[in-house]
Amino acid sequence: MKLTGSYALKVALIYAAVGALWILFSDTAVEWLIGDNAALSAFRDYKWWLFVMASSLLVFWLSWRALAEQGGLIRRLRQSAIVFERTHEGVVTTDHRNRILDANPAFSRMVGRSEALLKGVDLATLHSSRHDSGFFEDIRNRIGEQGYWTGEIWNVGPDGSERPYQATVTYVGSGRDGQDRYAWVFTEITKLKDAQKRLEDLAYHDALTGLPSRLQVGDRLRNLLAEADAGRRIAVLYIDLDHFRNVNDSFGHPVGDNLLVLVARRLQRRLPEGAGLAHLGGDEFLIYLENVTDNGQAGECAVNMLKAIAEPFVLANRREVYVRASIGIAFYPDDAGSATELLQYSNAAMFEAKKLGRNNWQYFSSHLVRRADQRLQLDTRLRRALKNEEFTLHYMPIMAGERREQLCGVEALLRWEQPDQSLMAPEEFISAAEETGLIVPLGRWVLEQACRQAAVWQRELDRPIPVAVNLSAQQFRTGRLFDHVERALDQSGLAPQLLHLEITESMLMEQIQTGQNLLGRLRQLGVHVSLDDFGTGYSSLSYLRRFDVDTLKIDQSFISDLVGNAADRDLVSAIISMARCLHLTVVAEGVEQVGQLDVLRSMGCDCFQGYLFSPPFPPEHLVDWLRAGEGNRSAGTGQDVDSHRSESRQSGGA
Ligand code: C2E
Ligand code: MG
Ligand code: MG
Repeated sequence: MKLTGSYALKVALIYAAVGALWILFSDTAVEWLIGDNAALSAFRDYKWWLFVMASSLLVFWLSWRALAEQGGLIRRLRQSAIVFERTHEGVVTTDHRNRILDANPAFSRMVGRSEALLKGVDLATLHSSRHDSGFFEDIRNRIGEQGYWTGEIWNVGPDGSERPYQATVTYVGSGRDGQDRYAWVFTEITKLKDAQKRLEDLAYHDALTGLPSRLQVGDRLRNLLAEADAGRRIAVLYIDLDHFRNVNDSFGHPVGDNLLVLVARRLQRRLPEGAGLAHLGGDEFLIYLENVTDNGQAGECAVNMLKAIAEPFVLANRREVYVRASIGIAFYPDDAGSATELLQYSNAAMFEAKKLGRNNWQYFSSHLVRRADQRLQLDTRLRRALKNEEFTLHYMPIMAGERREQLCGVEALLRWEQPDQSLMAPEEFISAAEETGLIVPLGRWVLEQACRQAAVWQRELDRPIPVAVNLSAQQFRTGRLFDHVERALDQSGLAPQLLHLEITESMLMEQIQTGQNLLGRLRQLGVHVSLDDFGTGYSSLSYLRRFDVDTLKIDQSFISDLVGNAADRDLVSAIISMARCLHLTVVAEGVEQVGQLDVLRSMGCDCFQGYLFSPPFPPEHLVDWLRAGEGNRSAGTGQDVDSHRSESRQSGGA
């Protein structure tokens, strides 16, 4: 029920009609209903009293309802008034000319004027001058269309400063004068905007070096490309520090961070004109040259940056360190058509530079994309292969002498069975598996499979057959290698002494501290550790002393020319005597000829591995191979290397 004038008129008219009907027809109605004269005369005496009583009841009921309704209305109004007074939001009502009719205390505080002084003021005069007439035109149109507008408005504060507000304007009907009225609600969002700005700053700047971040440089490149006219060329140099992990591992992360800041500063100082620098994260930096006239400019910049990085850095702990970097360069529009491609292709070129020995720079070339595509396909196939159990292990004997009973162990070598039954050698897929991280589950499978096989042989042959397993740097880095080794030994029941883990020097150099700890724990467990491909990496005697290893495997590249090349002979001889001093067992890899074997023996080499004895073979061949050797003086005299090679090819060997 609405207590309006028309409602009051309606009630009065109904009352007048009912009263008139009562006066005119009540006698006739009673006479017709009862038909008794005595009763009729009694009714006539009291009918006015009856009318008065009924009217009173009606008046009471209507008043009671009206009062109850009004009470509710007043309560609601009072609550609204309290909300209006106390809310922290600024609330203003305006007329059709945008003049303030009413403003609450919060709004008066926001603009620094009393409520009384705000009355009649044009609200637009309190907004910042950054909003033009078009802005307010938009607001009016939007209210006309949907009845409200919401958005950001800047108002002038008491001290004259401009502050941002989230504003909502709603059409609230018309006033007594028939003109439109509007309610404005303002919520201050300065803090929110500050927080938003801080977040943006964080995303746009690298917190460590203060340089533009990957996000910012991506935007910058996109803008440059969007503005670039027909003749413009842009170069991107992707810089990655070489072996930066060593600094972190040797000196700790704070020192590593310190070095990154120093590198950033030095690069910044040596930037050519029209170039920008960004820190992409970790040890990766990016330089873009906005206007390149010829490719040589980018190459020259790369050379200068490599020189700048190569100068020694003095760290906060006063240590002097030497850093090197690899740089990849890609051009717009020659190589890449978008910012994403520029980053991707310069990154691919950087990897090429790393591959070519690090501390150099490379231009991008399209064959890198093809290779990346092939890599991607290989990755998908590798994943499927692991699931479908397409991998298998072949084993290569390691001999203490020529006689097959002098077998002192086997090395497990991974093979991938192809649909045409051929076997793919590890060199073709290991690095792809390493790049994608698949090497970790794959390496774990190798470990478990090899341990299981060695335990089976021990039962079958009633003699221990030590098995060597190659590890990848990735497995080393996961931090789970120790657990995986323990699991593999537990599951197979193989004695730890029969498991030889083959690692490379570069794996240790990558993680000096953690590597040392891990080796210590593995050796405590009883597992043997061999340093594989010795001579191809750092080959540092001091490191050898630091790392706890049992065996040194001389890389086959030193063995192939052993007979004819005196320098190789001297080197191998030096390695063997050095290993003897450190009480390490020495294994020579790639022994193919009896002559090589004789030279190695004369030098005091302990064990030999190579096609002279046997190519890698499937596990089921071991028993036959051992038996076939019984009574033979030399494995090598029984078969020449060429026949070994063809055997190796059939079984997937190198
Ligand atoms: P590696 O550990 O140095 O293994 C020795 C490689 O030299 C084997 O090649 C073997 O077949 C080959 N070889 C041994 N003796 C001779 C010889 O007299 N003449 C010639 N021409 N080659 C010989 P393969 O099996 O192709 O393995 C290549 C590399 O792949 C291995 O080098 C190892 O680094 C890696 N690899 C093999 N299996 C695994 C694995 O399970 N995990 C990991 N992470 N790497 C593996
Ligand atoms: Mg090996
Ligand atoms: Mg090797």
